Order: sequence, then structure tokens, then C-alpha cells
Amino acid sequence: MAHRPAPRAPLGLAAIVAALPPGATSDRPEDLAPHLTDWRGETTGHADLLARPGSTAEVVALVRAAAAHRIALVPQGGNTGLAGGSVPAPRPDRPTVLVSLLRMNRVRALDPAGLSITVEAGAILADVHAACEALGTAFPLSLGAKGSATIGGLVSTNAGGTQVLRHGTMRGLVLGLEAVLPDGTLLDQLRPLRKDSTGYDMKQLLIGAEGTLGIVTAASLRLVPAPKARAVGWAGTGSLAAALQLLARLRRAVGERIESFELVPGDGLALTLAEIPGTMAPLQGAHAWHCLVELADADAGADLEAALLACFEAALEAEEIGDATVARSAAQAAALWRLREELPEAERRDGPSLKNDVAVAVADVPAFDAAARAAIAAEFPGARPLVFGHLGDGNLHWNLRPPADTDRKAWLQSHGEAARRRLHDIVARFAGTISAEHGIGTLKAAEFARLGDPGKIRAMRAIKAALDPEGIMNPGKLFLEGAPAES
Ligand code: FAD
Repeated sequence: MAHRPAPRAPLGLAAIVAALPPGATSDRPEDLAPHLTDWRGETTGHADLLARPGSTAEVVALVRAAAAHRIALVPQGGNTGLAGGSVPAPRPDRPTVLVSLLRMNRVRALDPAGLSITVEAGAILADVHAACEALGTAFPLSLGAKGSATIGGLVSTNAGGTQVLRHGTMRGLVLGLEAVLPDGTLLDQLRPLRKDSTGYDMKQLLIGAEGTLGIVTAASLRLVPAPKARAVGWAGTGSLAAALQLLARLRRAVGERIESFELVPGDGLALTLAEIPGTMAPLQGAHAWHCLVELADADAGADLEAALLACFEAALEAEEIGDATVARSAAQAAALWRLREELPEAERRDGPSLKNDVAVAVADVPAFDAAARAAIAAEFPGARPLVFGHLGDGNLHWNLRPPADTDRKAWLQSHGEAARRRLHDIVARFAGTISAEHGIGTLKAAEFARLGDPGKIRAMRAIKAALDPEGIMNPGKLFLEGAPAES
């Protein structure tokens, strides 16, 4: 957004320190450092102060002080975001406070009959899972970073994960929201209502806003009854088209009980086996693609293992898949899931690569992948696609490893953005999206400006200008720096 230049304001920082209890702020470099580099290790920012509020009232006081002095605020949860949105700019144009919500991690209410949980923004996803399970319920959103990602971060990126196929993204799972707007106003929509037709749905504005419209302090989330029957299987196949035939077969056989349908490429599996100790190949032989399937049912009597086996057998018969296995124990199921969930970590250990988070219509996945491979091979010889993700949602992490035997960092610096633009051009040709779940952050701000719907971007800028005229909330994220506030 266009900002009026803000003078350095040590007084403003002092006002923020004064607004919070002793010990809730620090300007010591060793306290700030763990919050300033993102998970990818590729963006390191600068903040003058770390604030760790412990309650919604403290967040209100903090934001009011920041608004009065035009101090920039960068909200942060688990810092597992993959779009560069969770860390400040390297050289912010104004005093900047990193606001960590990790101290606000209480469960405020859990209603097993109404199937809702109300939790504070800093609650870790895995802890929310555990709290729900203890009362026979489940929060049906999971992802590889569940041990660190927080509810506030998941809300703010409209996170997806491995169960979107059945339960949707955060947009569909948030019933109510509490947030502090950029002028310090408390938005009190924290009610687990199933229905509410009173004008604009303000919580939806905050979901996916990546911290640019306010600080989320708590959320009421939709739960489901805890699954009692579960089956996890793994199938190897020769093509994406055949993988989608398997998905269609499963849908016919078990309907909405398909919880996950995840994609792992043969080279990605090899990478995980090489990089992650204790992992084992799930099948004999080599397969171009692997599908991880999970079925679940709240009815303990549902024989999902038999249903999954029958589907795999029919798919083998029809030559849709080359081999398959069904987990016989919770430990075997966890081992299969590990192969999928550790793939981003294996990729990170392997070295820098170009990360993407695109989606097209499910039926278009094979044609999109073929078009993208052809374009990249023609224009960036030797570059190695590493394509995995949530196939059942049409969401592919269509990542690109630099050619073998090159200086990977140098290659990414000279070719990375051009390769990303080429990939996104093909996404646009298939009427897809350049970010299905990770968000825009700083990483995709230029591409969002280039390819996003101009009508949507104009409306977004108008909303941003109305709620945050001074541009204090997470500056430089979502929108290209320097672009006019309203155009
Ligand atoms: P952070 O990284 O701290 O922040 C993310 C964004 O939200 C930033 O813009 C930040 O400013 C904003 N924010 C954070 N908290 C607040 C708040 N309280 N109020 C306002 N704004 C806030 N994502 C998926 O969707 N699906 C996946 O399958 C998936 N898999 C992943 C696997 C791995 C190994 C990793 C490392 C990440 C993965 N992610 C995935 C991305 C990431 O986990 C999600 O984006 C998650 O939602 C981020 O939560 P966080 O608490 O770490 O947020």
C-alpha cells in the first residue's frame, strides 16, 4: 500500500512497551532472532521489538499504541508459513514490532454436542487435535507442520492440508472469530453459530488476510465426531490420469468417506527414503506416482480396510495401478503418512528449490502437469520438477529443483522468477490459482499483481485502505510495495 512516510518513532516503541505488562516485550537480539527468519530459511527480516501479549485485552492495548504512533505490526504464530508472510521486511521503512501470539494458547470452550471448540490464536494445531480427541471429537484439518502451526496462522492463510477433500479449508471450518482491527477495535464475532445472516461476514475478511487486516486473537472451530474406523493405503501408478481413475473408483465405492487422496512422485519418494532416517519403501518396484489414501468413518463397524482392499484389487485388475498395500496397524498407517509428510523436509535437506502452490480443476491435473513439464523442459533445460500434494483437491506443490551439478542458489537467483512466471502462465491458461493454500505473502505478491483478477485486487485495496489507512498491519504482504493504495 502507499504509506505516508513515517518518521522513526522511539517514543512509539516506548508506548508499546508501556502498554504491555513487564516481560511481555523485548528488544534483545537473541529474543528477536528466532522470529525473524522464515521456515524456508530464505527470508530474514528486521524488527525493533518483540511483543508477546498474553490476552486479547493486551493485544487491544498494543494495537492502539501502534496505531497512535504508526508503528508497523507483524503478527506471527508458529512461523511455518511458506510465503514469506510471517517475518518483517529486511529493511522496514518504519519502526516494526513482531507480535508473537504463542502465549495466547488456551482452550476457552469445547462443546462435544454442538461440535465446536473455541481456542486462542496461539494454540498449536497438534494440541487442538489432542484436546478434541479427549472428548470424542476431531478437528478435521491437518498438515505436516501441525506440531508448530497455530490456529491464528491457519486462519490467516486459509490453510488447507490433507483433509480438504472431505472437510474443506479453514474458510469452512471457522464458525466464529475474535480479532483486533488496525485501529485497536475489537471485532467480537467469537460465537460458534451455525447460521448468521446479519450483513457482511467479517470473519471471512480476516480469514486468508495474512495479518494485513488485523490480529486474530481467537477462533471457534467446527468439529466432527472422532472417526472410529479408519483405513490407510498406498498405491503405485504410472500416470496422473490413472491416479484420478483410482479416485473416481474410490468415490463410487465409499463416497464421502475418502478423507485424503495425496500424491507423492516416484523421485520424491526416493528423496524421502534417502534424506529421512527410518523411512521404508512402501511397495516393491518403481512407480512414476504414488497415491496415499485415507478412509474414515464415525461408525466403528464400517469395514473400511476391506473396502479399500477391494478397490485396490479392482484397480489392479483394470491396470490403473501397478501395486498397492493397505496398512494393518496404526503404526503401519503412521509409517505411510510419514512418507508423505516428511517430503517437504526431505526437499529442504536436499537443497534450495523453487516452491509453488498451485491448483487447477481436478480433471485438468494431468493436462496441466504435462503442459508445465513441456514448457519448463523447453525453457529451463535440466530443471527437475518435484510435484506432490493434495491431488484430490487439484492442488499441486509443483516445485522445481535446479539442474543437477549446478550452484542451486545461483540458478534460482538467475532463473527462479522466470520459471515461476512460466509455470503461473500455464496455471492461468487452465483457469487455476497461483496459491491454493500457502498464501501470497511477499513471495507471490508480484505474481498476484500480474495475474490476479483486477476487480478483486481493486476491492481488496479498498478494504485495506478503509480498515488500515496508515498501513500498519503486516506491511509489504499480499500487495506489491509502492503500488498506489487505490487504483
Ligand atoms: P505463521 O507462519 O506464523 O504466519 C503465517 C501468516 O499468518 C503470516 O502472514 C502471519 O502474519 C499471519 N498470522 C499468523 N498468526 C496470525 C494472527 N494471530 N493474526 C493475524 N495474522 C496472523 N499449509 C497448508 O495450507 N497446507 C499444508 O498441507 C501445509 N503443509 C505444510 C508442511 C510443512 C512442513 C510446512 C513447514 C508448512 C506447511 N504449510 C501448509 C504452511 C503453514 O503450515 C501454514 O501456512 C500455517 O497456516 C501457518 O501457521 P503458523 O502459525 O505457522 O503461521
